[in-house]
Amino acid sequence: MKLHSDAVTAQTGLRYDSAAKAFFGLLGRFPAVLRQLPRQNAVLLQIAGTIPDAAQVNEQLRAWQEENPCVLSAEYRNRRIGCAFIIPKKQPDETVCGLASAVTMLAADLGMRPCCMSCGTESAYELYFLDKNGVTVCPECRAELAEKLAAEQEKHAQEKPKYAGIVLGALLGALLVFGMTWFVMRQSRISVLTAYAGMVLGFLLMKKLGKKVTLPAALFCAVLCLLGSFSGIWLHSAQSLAAKNRDMISLLDVMHDDPDFQPFELTGGAKRAHDMLFGDMESLKLASEITDGHIRMFYENPSAGKCLLHLPALCRIPIYRAEGREILMDMLFGFLSVAAGTAMSIYPILRGRKTAYLLRKPVAA
Ligand SMILES: [Zn+2]
Repeated sequence: MKLHSDAVTAQTGLRYDSAAKAFFGLLGRFPAVLRQLPRQNAVLLQIAGTIPDAAQVNEQLRAWQEENPCVLSAEYRNRRIGCAFIIPKKQPDETVCGLASAVTMLAADLGMRPCCMSCGTESAYELYFLDKNGVTVCPECRAELAEKLAAEQEKHAQEKPKYAGIVLGALLGALLVFGMTWFVMRQSRISVLTAYAGMVLGFLLMKKLGKKVTLPAALFCAVLCLLGSFSGIWLHSAQSLAAKNRDMISLLDVMHDDPDFQPFELTGGAKRAHDMLFGDMESLKLASEITDGHIRMFYENPSAGKCLLHLPALCRIPIYRAEGREILMDMLFGFLSVAAGTAMSIYPILRGRKTAYLLRKPVAA
């Protein structure tokens, strides 16, 4: 739900600052800011002023919150009352304005007096936006605050990424993508979500460990995650090809020892290899293309490690062509997955801090 700015303005007298996407002005005697919370059906109301007995006001606010199901939170802290309201579907503007006026009256009853939120002086204060929040400051406090904000801004601008953390985060991300890809492929077919999830986790880790993430660092992480995804695919494929090679070896051994063997006597790996080679017309045709060179490759590559080294050559053996095509498809999936993960998370990762340390006067549209 969204509030209608005309209705809110008419009912409260607050004006709308379109840059802050917030209403501002006086509610009763109190400087106030009312703004919609991002991606939620809720608004935040902030009323500046001082109340002698903070414990009492919080008790009253809690009681008031319990009476009103639309009130998500209500608290007095640092010379400001902050309340969050749900915007109901029915009569959104009336409900929110009604709650705002109720809390204002409660504040007046409790003896709240408008003041500078920083020093508490009750004269010459003015309402400002500090980033998105409503604050009141007097000219003296304003100068002090501006200085502090400039220092914060400077500090943030000079904040350097921690390269060791970035590299470690990217490596951990790639390892996650690798492990998840390999694990998921063991259970079933590769899914686009696998590398995507690992990728997003990798970005978060890099951000956490590296503090500040630059574009090259994010791309570095994406490339490592892509390698992680491919490695998971290659390892899984090498393991399954090694198992097939071992089956083939056991079949060839049986055939070598007993040229008159009967297929129905075969068991285990030799039977699996026999079924693969002679199972249907298509595989029979493929089997007839197998050369002595191919047979040598079965014997030379009984382990996953060996298969990993000779993956492209193995995929050219006629009976493994389908596996070769599958690896390429899986790699395409891995690539799309990493690309999607990068596209979805690179912007929030690069954007960094949300606050800009900006103090400015509200402006009505
Ligand atoms: Zn002040």
